[in-house]
Amino acid sequence: MSLSFPCLRLTVIGAGYLGLTHAVCMAELGHDVLAIDTDEAKIAMAASGAPPFFEPGLEPLLRKNVEAGRLRFGTSYAEAGEFGEIHFLCVGTPQSADGSADLQYVHAAVDALAPHLRQDCVVVGKSTVPVGTARGLAARLRQGAPAGLQVELAWNPEFLREGTAVRDSMSPDRLVFGVTSSWAADRLRDIYAQQLYNGTPCLVMDLETAELVKVAANSFLATKISFINAMAEVCEASGADVIRLAAALAADERIGGRFLSPGLGFGGGCLPKDIRAFRATARGLGVDSVDSFLNEVDAINLSRRARVADLAREIVGGDLAGARAAVLGIAFKPGSDDVRDSPSLAVCDQLTREGAIVRVHDPVATGNAAKVRPDLRYADTVTEAVAGADVVLHLTDWADYRAIDPVALGQVVGRRNIVDARCTLDSDYWRSADWTVRILGRP
Ligand code: NAD
Repeated sequence: MSLSFPCLRLTVIGAGYLGLTHAVCMAELGHDVLAIDTDEAKIAMAASGAPPFFEPGLEPLLRKNVEAGRLRFGTSYAEAGEFGEIHFLCVGTPQSADGSADLQYVHAAVDALAPHLRQDCVVVGKSTVPVGTARGLAARLRQGAPAGLQVELAWNPEFLREGTAVRDSMSPDRLVFGVTSSWAADRLRDIYAQQLYNGTPCLVMDLETAELVKVAANSFLATKISFINAMAEVCEASGADVIRLAAALAADERIGGRFLSPGLGFGGGCLPKDIRAFRATARGLGVDSVDSFLNEVDAINLSRRARVADLAREIVGGDLAGARAAVLGIAFKPGSDDVRDSPSLAVCDQLTREGAIVRVHDPVATGNAAKVRPDLRYADTVTEAVAGADVVLHLTDWADYRAIDPVALGQVVGRRNIVDARCTLDSDYWRSADWTVRILGRP
């Protein structure tokens, strides 16, 4: 006897990295999904079966579910209001000038959806927002929705990571439901029935705690990365080796090895903005300790970018003006084409400010990088990027870069200098091939 799970009519509002992945995975679970976005070009691409960004494993699932008729795309809130019994809010919450979260897109989405609702429904927030946002949105929703409907707001924070987003969505570590009624909790249980059946832990709580889970989790992860990077600084100053230190720390099961990799630090569309928004929230709540604590976490993270430029300067002899620098990796992490707050882009900025001639390679992210930094030179191959270079910088930890043969590369560069900002190259091997190697946190 085959198992059957509830099939619901869902809408996903905002079809970016989070929303498109969520829409595809919800359709894969068997739900009928309509995803809408204000960006018509993005919607047209997705509807044709081509994700507008790189995410491993997403394209075949997108095509499969579009072809099966379980997943549709559009731009109409009227259609969304008519169709959905559950509406997922997945719009962006970027950083404002003062560091706080910019909620204009979340407000616009709720205001646009509310008057078009035509059936009892739950509006489920997935975007990352400051604690307290959901209560305000619930009031906004009630005000805008037609009278007589049961319309509730719930919060279901998302923990997917770019690069493994499909796997994270299909098999999440846990589900968090922030709700104000058992009706809304039951609807969420229906949506995720398959994962719950497979044993995914589910934690049901109030709206405020659910909002806070996400920013607290990201703050903890950022702290772990900045902690090991602070230790890398101590290692550099004392001659110790941060890789051996991290391995020994990781063997303590109370600490664990995940997010304990030293290097150039975190970036992307989530961790940096989320800890800055949390600082602003904490200030607003009068919790100054969280503000100052996360300020340090952020500052340590940013300091690694400057340190990489220092190493590049030192390795070429003290002056980057006119030096040819080959940058390997521009995405904020491997497995993604996202360059939002990319540490590598920040290093490129510093190198060019000091007069270096920078040529960049990345397996998938040069297109996005060129949109924000058209002045940099981009290469299609590693060989093209490093030809004649005075220094090579390893800035994003793509597996292909770990596999580079330093002997072969040594024939192409101008000088055999490399800065390993991700601490993952085999430094003994590179040195045996006559390269000068500088590594963050390692001799
Ligand atoms: P994104 O910029 O890739 O996508 C946001 C989408 O929302 C865009 O396509 C935009 O056109 C659309 N949009 C904006 N206003 C709209 C409106 N009024 N109606 C419909 N669509 C609208 O951003 P993202 O990375 O997908 O992040 C979205 C949210 O999810 C953020 O709060 C982020 O912090 C959170 N989040 C992201 C990730 C991630 O890995 N990217 C993981 C967990 C949580």
